[in-house]
Amino acid sequence: MTERIDGHTLLIGLMAYPIRHSMSPTMHNNAFAKLGLNYAYLAFEVGNDQLPSAIESIRTLDMRGSNISMPNKQKVIPLLDKLDPAAEMVGAVNTIVNDDGVLTGYTTDGIGFMKSLDDEGIDIRGHKMTLAGAGGAGTAIAVQAALDGVKEMSIFNQHDAEWENAKRNVALINEKTDCHATLHELEDRDDFKKEIQSSFIYTDSTGVGMKPLEDKTLVDDPTWFNNPDLVVFDTVYAPRETKLMRVAKQAGVKHVFNGLGMMLEQGAAAFKLWTGEDMPVDYIRHILF
Ligand code: NAD
Repeated sequence: MTERIDGHTLLIGLMAYPIRHSMSPTMHNNAFAKLGLNYAYLAFEVGNDQLPSAIESIRTLDMRGSNISMPNKQKVIPLLDKLDPAAEMVGAVNTIVNDDGVLTGYTTDGIGFMKSLDDEGIDIRGHKMTLAGAGGAGTAIAVQAALDGVKEMSIFNQHDAEWENAKRNVALINEKTDCHATLHELEDRDDFKKEIQSSFIYTDSTGVGMKPLEDKTLVDDPTWFNNPDLVVFDTVYAPRETKLMRVAKQAGVKHVFNGLGMMLEQGAAAFKLWTGEDMPVDYIRHILF
């Protein structure tokens, strides 16, 4: 790394709190080194209070950009000059690009979701998706899938703080895209089963299946998965195999995925925005996992 850093090195940040656990610095710095690109990526502990001055420093230091994570993904929006249409619809930003002092906000989680399916040879465009969850990940997935051409989407959420967001997502998708979205209560099990069974893909973005809900799944009855061609996607990547994935495999579902590919591809999408280059995803997967 020291061999690469010189007076021309461009800095890219990650602004969030807490953030020391993040895999992003390892991901990006190894990709820069592999491709011989003169960038360095550093994590900065930045909360809401420090955010305005941290964002201003992107301009002051002529940084190439930054990733943004919690608790800053929404708070950062008024501090930017422009928003990519998907980021505007999602209402959150995870990537900033600095073009000569003009800061543009993007969201790459949804791109990562779609690309990770493309990588597996699965095209959900023109098909129906049932999606559980309407939080940060669920919103990004729903918006990108709708923008990319998913034809029909049944969004399920429980009656918690995200219910209003699920409502908002459905209204926005119907207004701004060609996808027909409907809102459903997760508590209505018959409806949930029916929608999954009439879908091309079932995606769980609730985080049920990771700590502290590691032994839980929203679908624990394998007979719900009566179509072996259904695609089952869990956004969780730790553990690598969730209970949902085990139930789906037990039912004979052929295409069952965790969120690892999505995580790598959301990083690759940001990498491309900053550098114009394709991240060597397989190489990075090998380093990280
Ligand atoms: P969030 O808190 O913003 O949203 C959580 C969603 O799940 C909400 O819709 C909430 O209503 C629902 N939910 C929470 N607990 C539930 C329960 N017990 N039963 C049913 N529904 C429940 O969280 P987030 O940031 O959207 O993250 C969700 C999951 O997605 C996490 O597991 C996270 O690790 C994963 N994620 C993965 C990637 C990736 O790249 N693979 C990216 C972002 C998030």
